[in-house]
Amino acid sequence: MKDKQVITYRLGDDFYDRLNSFADKILDDGLALFQSEFAQINNFYEKATQDISSRDDHEFRRSQKPLYLLEAIYFKILDNLNNEQFNKANDTVLILPQCLALMQDKCKRKRGKYGKKCGGCVPNCQINQIMKVSEKYGIEGYFSKRKLEQQLLRIKKDKPSLGVIGISCILTLASGMRTAREMGIPARGVLLNFTGCRHWSDSPFSTEIALSKLAAILEEKYGI
Ligand code: SF4
Repeated sequence: MKDKQVITYRLGDDFYDRLNSFADKILDDGLALFQSEFAQINNFYEKATQDISSRDDHEFRRSQKPLYLLEAIYFKILDNLNNEQFNKANDTVLILPQCLALMQDKCKRKRGKYGKKCGGCVPNCQINQIMKVSEKYGIEGYFSKRKLEQQLLRIKKDKPSLGVIGISCILTLASGMRTAREMGIPARGVLLNFTGCRHWSDSPFSTEIALSKLAAILEEKYGI
């Protein structure tokens, strides 16, 4: 006897109407809730749309405010969904953004097995501080490569039971976590508190995270 077909979901007649109302409500509520954090996005967007220079990141810079909210929500949902598997994974690796390095162009990063690593050149660099805490748990950290998938693939080959912690900005963190999830790697994440790289500033400057957020993820997995 043939198995009965299983349908994962079936849209009701008024699905689109309800989805429309739900999306409107999320946008209204979310943009009101994060009004102060997102206060400068529209100004930046206006400038970015008027910029007709030959730079290669126009589309990225022209992200509208609702997309910031959407990516923040996506990050949070993935972070929650991945939590249990992340805690069960034997190994943890940190994937770090270049913009977090205090010394920027003068950063003394060194070559590591899966990418560049912090060389520990200045004590007040957040990456240096992050690595000091992470190394206590035996966790390695690497600067993210452009080809994140290849980088993760190499790490997973050597560490099959792998969980990663990504640090990135609102517009890119969830996308990196999706890439990891598609590879069977549970990822958690910490958002940059603000942006500072070349996409957002003509004179890039170092960014920051809430270190307590990273510490909470590590303590949940490894204990204090
Ligand atoms: S402390 Fe590490 S990450 Fe920070 S600037 Fe120096 S080498 Fe780069």
